[in-house]
Amino acid sequence: MSGAGIGSMSRRELLMMIGAAAGSSVAYRAMASLDMVPESDYKGPIKLEGDPKGASVLILGAGLAGLVAALELRKAGYKVQVLEYNQRVGGRNWTLRGGDSYTELGGFEQKCEFDPGLYLNPGPWRLPYHHNAILDYCKRLGVVLESFNQVNYNAYLHSSKAFGGKPQRYRHIQADFNGGVAELLAKSTKQKKMDQMVTKEDREILLESLKGWGALENDYTYRMGLGSSERRGYDHDANGGTIGKPVPSKPISIDEILKSGLWRYLVHGHIYEFQTTLFQPVGGMDMISKAFAREVGDAVRFNCKVTAIKQDGHKVTATYVDTKTGGTPTQVSADWCLCTIPASVLSQIDLDVSAPMHDAINALPYEASIKVGL
Ligand SMILES: Cc1cc2nc3c(=O)[nH]c(=O)nc-3n(C[C@H](O)[C@H](O)[C@H](O)COP(=O)(O)OP(=O)(O)OC[C@H]3O[C@@H](n4cnc5c(N)ncnc54)[C@H](O)[C@@H]3O)c2cc1C
Repeated sequence: MSGAGIGSMSRRELLMMIGAAAGSSVAYRAMASLDMVPESDYKGPIKLEGDPKGASVLILGAGLAGLVAALELRKAGYKVQVLEYNQRVGGRNWTLRGGDSYTELGGFEQKCEFDPGLYLNPGPWRLPYHHNAILDYCKRLGVVLESFNQVNYNAYLHSSKAFGGKPQRYRHIQADFNGGVAELLAKSTKQKKMDQMVTKEDREILLESLKGWGALENDYTYRMGLGSSERRGYDHDANGGTIGKPVPSKPISIDEILKSGLWRYLVHGHIYEFQTTLFQPVGGMDMISKAFAREVGDAVRFNCKVTAIKQDGHKVTATYVDTKTGGTPTQVSADWCLCTIPASVLSQIDLDVSAPMHDAINALPYEASIKVGL
């Protein structure tokens, strides 16, 4: 990551601020707009060419990066060996089901007591429709996908500081926020306060579009009625018999929504990474790592904690400790090494790389995250 300045602020400072304020996906998009991460140009299966001449590759880490590398390099004729810290493949691509347990780094053991059929993906859980490579691997390796529900209009949004702590339906906040904003903008437009930004011809079009977008009435107000209830839902749905007529519901005022801060949550489904159609593997995200394990699992050595990586002009040597048996560290060498150990861990490993590479590894910021499974 370059530290080249944007005004008086470095790119790194700017991206860290964006990440802290808006989350990693927004920071990722900001990086993409600065041409710091290229969009995926994956067009189909990778075709590695050339004769490896019996060369060996040592892959460190059996997360998806390591597994993909193992699959492709072995297909191309390399002798592949993978060293993995855990007792399973997948890395962050992981699923917990009832009966599973996990010992945290501090030694505390978490037991998962979900009912049969329930699971939690502690790490990744969404496959965007434009993540072409992973979707292609799923297809080729027989991982069955289903759609992932990013936006649940009937879910609750909650703030202990708003609405007396009472949760509010997502669809109410969304419809009423849009309606309130549309009404304000329509009012400004009609009062000709937008004339500097919108031409006379476009003013009518803008008003028409605000009416549609915000579910405004003919007088450009957003209020209780069938129009707003079409978006936010009714107090009583349309029905048969004597109570057949729908009963409209009462919108929340825009100033209440603004003060509540709940509008912050409305953006998620609009973010490129989270736009429908999103996918997930049927039965848990680790169906992907399990599918890779069927192909290359035999090349993975588990419970190997890599502690050093050394290289000279001819080969690379990794030192690892068996996390189950301990004992003296073991060394394994290969012609090439492909390291997929996350930089936050790599920065703690005895590593034979140049000072700028060390600096880069040490400088990479990671965002903390938390997931709760009930
Ligand atoms: C909470 C969360 C949610 C996410 N959601 C999504 C999502 O919805 N969609 C999406 O596409 N991406 C998501 N991601 C990102 C995605 O999980 C990662 O990009 C991806 O899993 C990284 O794969 P990897 O192989 O590079 O790294 P990892 O999966 O971290 O693999 C690294 C491997 O190296 C091993 N290792 C570490 N140290 C050592 C050592 N010393 N010796 C030997 N082995 C070692 C680890 O055990 C691990 O198996 C999410 C990530 C998180 C944390």
